[in-house]
Amino acid sequence: MESNNKMLEIKSRIFDFFLSSSNLTQTTFLTQLQLLLKEELQAEQAIVTLEENLLSQDQSLICEQAVSYTISSSEGSNVENVVIPLFDEEHAIGKIDLHFLSPVPLPLDSFNQISKELSIIFQHYNQYIFKRYEEKQYEELYAITSKFHSAMSVDGILSEVIKLLQRMYEDFSYLLLLTSDNDDLKHLPIKKLDFDDNNICAMNAYVTGEVQFENSIKDRRANIYIPIKGGQGVYGVMQIISLDAATLPEAEIKFIKLLADATGAALENTQLYEQSKQVITDLQLINETSHQLNTNLRLTEVTSFMVKKILQSFHAKEVAFVFYQEKGMEILPGSTEFFQQSDIKEYLTQMKEFLFSDGEPLFIGDLRVHKRLSDLPFCSCMVIPMLIPNGGKGACVVTHPLPYFFSFEQFKLLQSLIHHSTLAFNNSMLREELEKYVITDYLTKLYSRKYLDDKIKKSMKNDSYGTFILLDIDDFKIVNDTYGHQVGDKILIQVANIIKSNIRETDIGARWGGEELAIYLPKVDLNLGESIVVRIIEKIREETDPGVTVSCGLSFWNKNTQDSPRDLFHRADYALYKAKDQGKDQLCIEAASESSEKVKN
Ligand code: GH3
Ligand code: MG
Ligand code: MG
Repeated sequence: MESNNKMLEIKSRIFDFFLSSSNLTQTTFLTQLQLLLKEELQAEQAIVTLEENLLSQDQSLICEQAVSYTISSSEGSNVENVVIPLFDEEHAIGKIDLHFLSPVPLPLDSFNQISKELSIIFQHYNQYIFKRYEEKQYEELYAITSKFHSAMSVDGILSEVIKLLQRMYEDFSYLLLLTSDNDDLKHLPIKKLDFDDNNICAMNAYVTGEVQFENSIKDRRANIYIPIKGGQGVYGVMQIISLDAATLPEAEIKFIKLLADATGAALENTQLYEQSKQVITDLQLINETSHQLNTNLRLTEVTSFMVKKILQSFHAKEVAFVFYQEKGMEILPGSTEFFQQSDIKEYLTQMKEFLFSDGEPLFIGDLRVHKRLSDLPFCSCMVIPMLIPNGGKGACVVTHPLPYFFSFEQFKLLQSLIHHSTLAFNNSMLREELEKYVITDYLTKLYSRKYLDDKIKKSMKNDSYGTFILLDIDDFKIVNDTYGHQVGDKILIQVANIIKSNIRETDIGARWGGEELAIYLPKVDLNLGESIVVRIIEKIREETDPGVTVSCGLSFWNKNTQDSPRDLFHRADYALYKAKDQGKDQLCIEAASESSEKVKN
């Protein structure tokens, strides 16, 4: 009866501990319990030892679940010792050592009851402690997930995980084996998960998505491999290394698995976030480029604009647009300087088959492995084919000296960008072709009369002087009648070609009408103009087949003569009339209004 009361008293006081403290730590609980037992059982000393500190002899003692009683002597007096086992069914969970100087105040039997009752209390207490610990783990998990959301960077996520693991399980070391390249995270314990590495356990964890254990008793090492999984894939493996072969309890592994899953999900979100940001940037680039290209640019402007965009967006070193048409290879003006060198053009012409091979884009990480291209001072090279008008072939060539400089995503983006710009290239090319067509005479390929008129007007406004010549084929009617119109046409073309090959790019050879042709020589004085025409007359006389001659009228203007284009034409026409009148195959000059005429044979 007395021991029952004692037990009730002890239980009620233990209950009070729990009620009075909201945050009862293990140390406080044990200290308070020891004091309480000392008081209630009138013992000299009460020592509570819990599971993790039990010695092996204690284990067997407790397994019998029997209270032991011994007497020992200390400083001449007898000490009575009672050891109360604490157990959970068959399993030892602790013991209480009681020392009495005076005789034990309770019958020994009653200690059996105390043992049973306190065991039950300790079972509950352990569960309480475990729940508290679990609660703390989940708080940590919650806190780290919030940090993941705010960090949104691979570096931030991985630093937080490592920090948390090191804080929670400081006896272990950690390594994150990741599938992605993380060269910029050298400050963290991270290694690339290498597929040709011999770490079979890590690879198994990665492939199966299951936790793997590896124990080496010989090396006294134990490794746990926990896959870092997201919803769409496995991003790596968390390796937990124990240097003394200690392993973690299952509950801890369960927690670390949750942590690894949260890390996987966070890495995946970050990756998706980065990807979506990149997609937005790419779309912005394409959109902005298309928008700019819609504004009727000339071919050189389109090229320069695209080259600038590609240099900026891809950090490329050299960029060229290379077109290959009937007339040969052309590197469009606007391409970077390197490609404007004449020997590069020659080199690329040899590369024609390679560049325009089968219309497939090329993505080369290291040009040095391609023998034929290894002379170029680049390693990375992307070639995107383009369709151009009239069955020609085109390509955009983007290069960088470093190997593997461009990513595959950039290669895809470049394809898309070129695809969107092809229309602008084609439009500009066709427009310029049409412009040329409009200002060119279809038969002789000399300029049209309208173009000549415009150029003379401009020159008379901007230059200081110029020479104008009218040429008329002599007796062309007879030529047509003799040989037929087709031969007549051929002779016209021959005469036109002689004119073209005897004047400069900046001079204008035009078809005035019928068999009358004209030449305007801006910034060419009378004497030079005269010698040019004399040479042309000679060549026509000598080189045409069937041979024809021409009569020419020359007029000249300078800033002092207040001439209009009309006056200039009029004087040349008058001089031509005179050349005809004086026997044809000759040049007459009606230089300026006041100047005298001259006749040359
Ligand atoms: P003249 O020496 O006085 O200039 O004699 P001509 O016969 O050249 O002059 P005319 O004005 O009498 O005749 C010009 C001829 O040039 C008539 C026309 O059939 C011919 N002609 C004009 N344009 C062309 C052309 O595009 N092709 C051909 N084959 N003949 C042309
Ligand atoms: Mg005529
Ligand atoms: Mg004629």
